Amino acid sequence: CGIVGYVGRERCVEVLMQGLSHLEYRGYDSAGLALQGEGGIEPIREVGRLENLGRAVAARNGHLSRMRAGIGHTRWATHGRPSEQNAHPQMGGRGTVAVVHNGIIENFAELKAELLEKGVRFESETDTEVMAHLLAERVEANPKETLRASLSAVLGRLEGSFAVAAVSVAEPGVIVAARHQSPLVVGLGEGENFLASAVQALLGETRRFLVVENGEVVEITGDSVGIFTRDGGPVERESFEVDWDA
Ligand code: GLU
Repeated sequence: CGIVGYVGRERCVEVLMQGLSHLEYRGYDSAGLALQGEGGIEPIREVGRLENLGRAVAARNGHLSRMRAGIGHTRWATHGRPSEQNAHPQMGGRGTVAVVHNGIIENFAELKAELLEKGVRFESETDTEVMAHLLAERVEANPKETLRASLSAVLGRLEGSFAVAAVSVAEPGVIVAARHQSPLVVGLGEGENFLASAVQALLGETRRFLVVENGEVVEITGDSVGIFTRDGGPVERESFEVDWDA
């Protein structure tokens, strides 16, 4: 339902939680974060209100306050009941990649059957988890490929409507994202950059945005933003300024 991404300084958790709170108006049944730390990706997910997620974050050690990159999600369940297992992030490859997703993967059942056949173990009932495993599989099979290129390859297999953001242990400080029929914007900062499914999530942080169009793939780091076509060609995009308040 709602997506936020942040990379840059040591205030990732704060920005993600704030961003999600500005997306609450859309409704949700659970929420979660995937934080990129030195020891890997740390997922935190809770059913119910954002306060529950906030408490779960506070209950973990202060190390979360040093995280510099992560993605967050508020879920409105379409496939699988509201539960911690079904909340996003969904993890692939035994925790090597994390994915948050808005929308529906129409052909998830056939993709899931194919993955099950290969021995992949599923932990949720979501359509989203299929994407996480496909991405992890692609990353593992192509260690020299960028995460962005791996995501592009996976997108070719998906039918439906989605906005998706992902992080990988193999690329610290990088968030990739893509959209097809679900909105996605990039927020521009100084030494930090943002992603969200709606500008409202980020108006407390920045006023400068780039729109991501259908079929495009995005890569952000603390000091770079790139928009690409699915076959990897760079896209020139003018930024726009938002002068209204949420
Ligand atoms: N289809 C996904 C799920 O049920 C995402 C739902 C959403 O957009 O929040 O987990």
